[in-house]
Amino acid sequence: MTPTPYLSERHRSTYTAERPTDKVRHDTAKGTATNTAALAHDPYRCPKKVTALADQIRQSATRTWSIMEVCGGQTNSIVRYGLDQLLTPAVQFIHGPGCPVCVTPETIIAQAIAIARRPDTILCTFGDMLRVPTAETWGHNPNAPNNVANSPETLLMAKAQGAQVQPIYSPIEAVSIAEGNPSKTVVFLAVGFETTTPATALAAISAKTKGLTNFYMLVSHVRVPPALASLINTQEHHIDALLAAGHVCTVMGTHEYVPLVRQGRLPIIVTGFEPVDILYGVLAAITQLEDRRYALENQYPRYVSDSGNDAAQRIIHQVYQTRDQDWRGLGKIPDSGWQLKPEYQHLDATSLFTKKSLFKKDFQEMGQAPYSSSNNNTASPYTYPAGATCQAGGVLTGKLKPNQCPHFGTRCQPKHPLGAPMVSDEGACAAYFHHRGTRQIAATVEKKITPAIPTTTLP
Ligand code: SF4
Repeated sequence: MTPTPYLSERHRSTYTAERPTDKVRHDTAKGTATNTAALAHDPYRCPKKVTALADQIRQSATRTWSIMEVCGGQTNSIVRYGLDQLLTPAVQFIHGPGCPVCVTPETIIAQAIAIARRPDTILCTFGDMLRVPTAETWGHNPNAPNNVANSPETLLMAKAQGAQVQPIYSPIEAVSIAEGNPSKTVVFLAVGFETTTPATALAAISAKTKGLTNFYMLVSHVRVPPALASLINTQEHHIDALLAAGHVCTVMGTHEYVPLVRQGRLPIIVTGFEPVDILYGVLAAITQLEDRRYALENQYPRYVSDSGNDAAQRIIHQVYQTRDQDWRGLGKIPDSGWQLKPEYQHLDATSLFTKKSLFKKDFQEMGQAPYSSSNNNTASPYTYPAGATCQAGGVLTGKLKPNQCPHFGTRCQPKHPLGAPMVSDEGACAAYFHHRGTRQIAATVEKKITPAIPTTTLP
């Protein structure tokens, strides 16, 4: 492949003249968001446009190119609208590690469950996190019944057993909950990519400004570019091009991707989430690949600029600094996470694990409260099948398609996910389950194995 100076290729707008305009989109959406006919005329979901772009992509490709979409939102669109099937054989999509729920390490979920079980604690987090299973235990309770002690657990299970787990829509809600419950310790489980990081940083600033002493954060934020660097630096990867997530770049800009283009010697195209956006991104990638070039290209210019959102970045850097971070399925990746800066260290919930005096009990005893003699609510609402192991590592690195997992649609379904990629809409396994006609198959299989999987008991 002959390298091409990528900087001169940035923001190439070969296809801009054909683009729909946001004005049309907004006019279409006004007051008719639930109208199917109106959606059909959404310029970013326009069937004619999609068909024309898909034809152009297939005609441009001389071989099958492997393109990894980084974001779970893009994965959902690709599977939901059948773009992968539409572009066969020109393109094979590899679904990357872009679902924030999926990549949160099991240890963090286990810590959150242990914290939530404290009688004087409220654990706040985003709704999807409640259903993410962890096979790890933290503050293991030897008196817990076997089905709780030895099988994966979720925050939802802990909530059903009496733990105070509060789903929230916005991080600032956790601050309000702390203000309204001065006698409780409120811990906010802060997860997600660069898209949610500014909002959780604002919560930290707000708590510090208000002088709250009962508000803590269990931080597990991740950064996309180091994870991509880790993927493309492995010898065995089969990625020809990357579609970078437009919303992450809206916050952080595109400059972090410049060295990745050099390192991976592959095209990186910043694009959006609607079918037309994704197809423009794929077309740009295929065009580069067929021309034997690699460049950073912005195919989402209506939102993404080189420098990104300065205000959001300032807030992030006010509160957080980078650190090495564990990713579920990927292991520890250097410099790929955020941790609280020393000025905000007093909000760090991990300090609760060492400050025994705070809870007046050793942290190793955490988790006993819901199982105490005064609260005999000991039955797990759902028993995970024995011996079933999630293959999330393979799915998140693109080595395994969700429906190649032996548990897909049978032991593992959205209502009782065995692994994180089956939880959120952004998870590849959930996307395949919802949009690939597997629900009926799964229902049939489930009937046969119902004794092993009591599906009606999960709240
Ligand atoms: S189908 Fe379920 S068990 Fe298999 S990889 Fe996906 S989440 Fe894990």
